[in-house]
Amino acid sequence: MNANIAEFLRASAHRHPDAACVVAGDTTYTWAEIDRAADALAAGLVQRGLHAGDRVALLLGNCVEFVIAYYGAARAGLVSVPLNPAYTSPEVAVLLADAGARMLIVQPSTERVAEESASALPGCEIVSTASRDWAEILRSGGDAVLAEVATAPDALALLLFTAGTSGRPKGAMLTHGALRANIEMLLSLTEPPAVVDDDVVLVVLPMFHVYGLNTALGLAVAAGATVVLSDRFDPVESLQLIASRAVTTVAGAPAMYQAWCATPGLREAMATVRLLSSGGAPLPVRVFEQFADLTGLRIFEGYGMTETAPVVATTLVSGSPKAGSVGRPLPGLDLRLADEDGTEVDEGDPGEVWVRGPSVFRGYWPDGAGGPDADGWFRSGDVAYADEDGDLHLVDRRREVILVSGFNVYPREIELVIDDLEGVAEAAVVGVPDDATGEAVTALVVARRGATLTAEQIADHCATRLARFKCPTVIRVVEALPHSATGKVAKGRLRDVYGDAGYGS
Ligand code: AMP
Repeated sequence: MNANIAEFLRASAHRHPDAACVVAGDTTYTWAEIDRAADALAAGLVQRGLHAGDRVALLLGNCVEFVIAYYGAARAGLVSVPLNPAYTSPEVAVLLADAGARMLIVQPSTERVAEESASALPGCEIVSTASRDWAEILRSGGDAVLAEVATAPDALALLLFTAGTSGRPKGAMLTHGALRANIEMLLSLTEPPAVVDDDVVLVVLPMFHVYGLNTALGLAVAAGATVVLSDRFDPVESLQLIASRAVTTVAGAPAMYQAWCATPGLREAMATVRLLSSGGAPLPVRVFEQFADLTGLRIFEGYGMTETAPVVATTLVSGSPKAGSVGRPLPGLDLRLADEDGTEVDEGDPGEVWVRGPSVFRGYWPDGAGGPDADGWFRSGDVAYADEDGDLHLVDRRREVILVSGFNVYPREIELVIDDLEGVAEAAVVGVPDDATGEAVTALVVARRGATLTAEQIADHCATRLARFKCPTVIRVVEALPHSATGKVAKGRLRDVYGDAGYGS
């Protein structure tokens, strides 16, 4: 069997060659067109001297060229390295050098950054999708026949740099087998199905992130559904797109649902939608409920990470969305909740999520460090508990737990309390070193537009709802918080943005 991820594209193209595969702007591309373009690119890249295992970096937004580049590179046995097109040249330079990229595919808006960063890597050829080179590669490949070589499941398909919410980016190595396994597990769910071939899927989540790439695009391609690409999330424009293209499923992130709740015409625009999912960051209960009130649609929440390609658990498994829960593990994955020593916690207690199964990554580039242990378990760093139905609730990131005089304080619990206060748009709670208690609970809070909010109000609100050791001792009302691609607060960057001294003021 050929385990190449691009075989999903091939199979869907055989099933219905003339149906719509990708809609981008005003243009619709059929399955046969995308499949042929991926073939041509694969052959063209090989003709250009690239060999199986070489890395091809993509500095592209959500455009049709991304889809062609990803599947074309995969088909040629090359490893895609999608990078955030909003990165600056120093950021791109570091990642290109780390990945040892042989080629960087860019679009007009990222050409300048590419040229500035490529000096870090003389062996890396830049190709713009707007250039003759791109057309040439597609054309030259078009006449060539790429000898079909069966890809092994453990061959590398993707190098995805992930910093989580802190630290230096590391390249997670995902194989063809891992990417396929996650898709196949999701396709095995039937009530309701995650996606079927007459679905029209909105892909607005960035495809340089695993959620947009494998769960939005990859899953839709495997099912043979139509992909409607959108390069940038704007609440009004995205609703217009959903209505005009009769979108039926949306892969989303909490910030999107929150923004839609405040957008007029939501219910009408969602008339054709049958399934919505959220992941990548916690979906506030308030947003889940408000969205259901406004549209009659309940959002399925999932949990996963780059290292697990990505979905670990989702409420799609039981088929019933539940506010505040990420549902149950996908069939085919093993999951355990363990304490610091690796012992399984008592039922209902919070423990670190350990995951084992075919969609787990091979470790971090280049040597596989940090991968699953000898028994195949990967420790996620997330803390969760299972409720009486067996549905998981995420509590926090293990390394973000704050230790106040020896007591565990889960920042998420404090953030949820602060979120409940009228006038709060968003809150981030972190620990800072403290001479007296080891760590002190510090809250950075953003006010809703037009609302006035004081540190005293927040302190009073917390004091009536939280034990004293959990109450923030330092509270700052700030302009904005830094975010990751899926809308998580990038806690590792808070210090850069506000500085150590700033926490105390
Ligand atoms: P990434 O590798 O960028 O996808 O980030 C993965 C991390 O996002 C996980 O380890 C979790 O900490 C967090 N995450 C993903 N989904 C959820 C969710 N539904 N609720 C809360 N946190 C989530």
